[in-house]
Amino acid sequence: MHTPTYLTLDNDVRQLRQTDADSFATRISGGLLSAADSAYEEARKVWNGMVDRRPALIARCLSDADVQSAVRFASARRMLVSVRGGGHHIAGNAVAEGGLMIDLSGMRAVSVDARNRTARVGPGALLADLDRAAQAHGLATPLGINSTTGVAGLTLGGGFGWLTRRYGMTIDNLLAVTVVTADGEVRVASAAAEPDLFWAVRGGGGNFGVVTSFEFQLHPVGPEIYAGLVVYPFAQARQVLRAWRDFTANAPEELSVWTVLRKAPPLPFLPASVHGTEVVVLAVACSGDVAAGQRAARPVLQFGEPIGSALMPTPYAAFQCAFDPLLTPGARNYWKSNNFSTLTDSALEVMIEAAGRLPGPECEIFVAQLGGAMARVHPSVTAYVGRDARYIMNVHGRWSDPRDDNQVRLWARQVFQNAALHATGSGYVNFLTEDEAERVAASYGSNYHRLQTAKRRFDPDNLFRMNLNIEPAAQAAYSGAVQAKR
Ligand SMILES: Cc1cc2nc3c(=O)[nH]c(=O)nc-3n(C[C@H](O)[C@H](O)[C@H](O)COP(=O)(O)OP(=O)(O)OC[C@H]3O[C@@H](n4cnc5c(N)ncnc54)[C@H](O)[C@@H]3O)c2cc1C
Repeated sequence: MHTPTYLTLDNDVRQLRQTDADSFATRISGGLLSAADSAYEEARKVWNGMVDRRPALIARCLSDADVQSAVRFASARRMLVSVRGGGHHIAGNAVAEGGLMIDLSGMRAVSVDARNRTARVGPGALLADLDRAAQAHGLATPLGINSTTGVAGLTLGGGFGWLTRRYGMTIDNLLAVTVVTADGEVRVASAAAEPDLFWAVRGGGGNFGVVTSFEFQLHPVGPEIYAGLVVYPFAQARQVLRAWRDFTANAPEELSVWTVLRKAPPLPFLPASVHGTEVVVLAVACSGDVAAGQRAARPVLQFGEPIGSALMPTPYAAFQCAFDPLLTPGARNYWKSNNFSTLTDSALEVMIEAAGRLPGPECEIFVAQLGGAMARVHPSVTAYVGRDARYIMNVHGRWSDPRDDNQVRLWARQVFQNAALHATGSGYVNFLTEDEAERVAASYGSNYHRLQTAKRRFDPDNLFRMNLNIEPAAQAAYSGAVQAKR
């Protein structure tokens, strides 16, 4: 006699007989975990330590067939499905309370075709997996700046990093995907096959199905690039940020310079007296010829009087890990972000004022410099619409004591509000928190209606709703009810 367990979501409690779960388990090659399993606690964790959800089941998928079984199982029972790539999204959408987690972390394989400069990448691969495999051939594709991020979520939301100004966004280098859609079918989408689906997954997040394979275009990069950090005293922030803004407006596309306002970490090239005090950090990466990169980056040392700098020829794959120590998993995190088409003096003042009252030693204001190849793609070519963003500010609230939750979130929200006056109003779905569902439509702007239509075609019942959700066209009432229950 089996005791029935309860699988729930949507507050729509349904009984699942143990025999159902047992039979499902036989169809998942990596195994099916529930709270009784010793591996469950580790498997349910995501990057953001604020997220503490307990899925009913975790399906450790290792193949398309596993994913198909999981999608069909959840769909038949109307279970809330979450999909875990690298588990890095700030909103923690990889895990749902009481739901079925489709865990792809076991599908990390990367294979590089050096002759055709392409890579086929599993949906559990981390940026480091792809970077290392591609760099073995002196190749790379634009990814993000923290090597433990998942390729899957980063790509589906858009993806940008040090190579974006030169080679475009991650999605601009996506050639094809394999997707298990809500009906349990496997579809291959590219410019030639299923073009609507291919359009939608390039920025539309995990709304359209579970991607089980990505194929990317690669480009020659490195293996050494000219890169590193220049650190200025906070007292010179106004002068340095204005000079940075003016310089980046006309910088070559091989060069990216991002700004971080934070308390100085104990970097070896900084005097100990500066550690823990506010500074302006300029992170420099020049992906072209090293000598040309050195020449192009020289002005960055002349924005004021640097406290210290470490600019040098550096292996590209190593620079991709440079920020990892500041972004380790498990801390409490809350983000707010704005897109800017230009940075006015007033916008810079908002950042300087906010950095003067950082609520903790790990909090920071990060500003990515974009434009270049990313901006040359028309916003209608992919689902990602915010091509006009030349700078994206991400306010990173990061702390460890739950008693600081309110104080840090308040600070991040205030910076966002104060900067909003100077921003485009659009957003980047990969940076939106779980309380920002109202920003999704604005983030997709003129592409939102087409995304809703694609959603209705590929996921009419909104099975994939544990994400920055796009409501299926003409199903707003159903989806609204689902959202309200989340
Ligand atoms: C420390 C840090 C640094 C970052 N730096 C950058 C950066 O430089 N540039 C940048 O562009 N972004 C950056 N991001 C944002 C990052 O792109 C997003 O967090 C992204 O969603 C992470 O992908 P993931 O697979 O790790 O996350 P997950 O949390 O696993 O997934 C994110 C979303 O995608 C869905 N999803 C994941 N895999 C699949 C799949 N195979 N099929 C369908 N849906 C799927 C999930 O369900 C979830 O809704 C950073 C994030 C962090 C935490």
